[in-house]
Amino acid sequence: GRKFVVGGNWKMNGTKSQINEILAFLKQGPLNESTEIIVGVPAIYLDHVKSNAPANVEVAAQNCYKVDKGAFTGEISPVMLKDIGVNWVILGHSERRQIFQESDELVAEKVSFALSNGLRVIACIGETLQEREAGKTEEVVFRQTQAIANKIKDWYDVVIAYEPVWAIGTGKTATPQQAQEVHQALRQWISQNISPDVANSIRIQYGGSVTGANAQELASQPDIDGFLVGGASLKPEFVNIVNARQ
Ligand code: 13P
Repeated sequence: GRKFVVGGNWKMNGTKSQINEILAFLKQGPLNESTEIIVGVPAIYLDHVKSNAPANVEVAAQNCYKVDKGAFTGEISPVMLKDIGVNWVILGHSERRQIFQESDELVAEKVSFALSNGLRVIACIGETLQEREAGKTEEVVFRQTQAIANKIKDWYDVVIAYEPVWAIGTGKTATPQQAQEVHQALRQWISQNISPDVANSIRIQYGGSVTGANAQELASQPDIDGFLVGGASLKPEFVNIVNARQ
């Protein structure tokens, strides 16, 4: 079976004292031991969270660049993340793609470079509302996944986060059926275009307005292997989301 994996993407939120409150409710838990838990932390607080998070909570950066060092003002590298003990990075989030114009190709290059430096990657994909309404959902998520497949061979350290852009921060969660449909189609595409083995083992998270109230029903879908949570990951209800898989 695929281990349930729940990520909290804090995005550009939190002061040190607010982050300490998040760490406090994570410590209090209780957190289901059969769920892998990862928090995506603003770069400036990675070291702090790494030093203060409970042992069963992994820490992820929200981005990193595709080279190890050099004249890239403002960027951080996988080597730096590994240096402070961070083992995960979120790449290709729709906010990176849309606001910071990251292309499929750049995202894929980042995924490849992060993996080759020993990081584990949450790779985000997902269609916009316009693309969904044009009937292009599958075309878009397959294209985004293909771009990554062109650059990597080993998917063992990759988790895919399917995050329909129209569901992010909108309170408009995909229904369990809508999410399951895309997850299943993607798994089938992976089976045919990457390998049946990867399709069977890779975890596909759902992200987009996941809450303590809707997590259980989403988690009961056969191809939903976890969540990537934005807003609700800043609140104690994140514990309920971590524990949503029955
Ligand atoms: P929300 O849970 O706030 O909709 O954000 C989802 C997300 O973008 C996680 O990466």
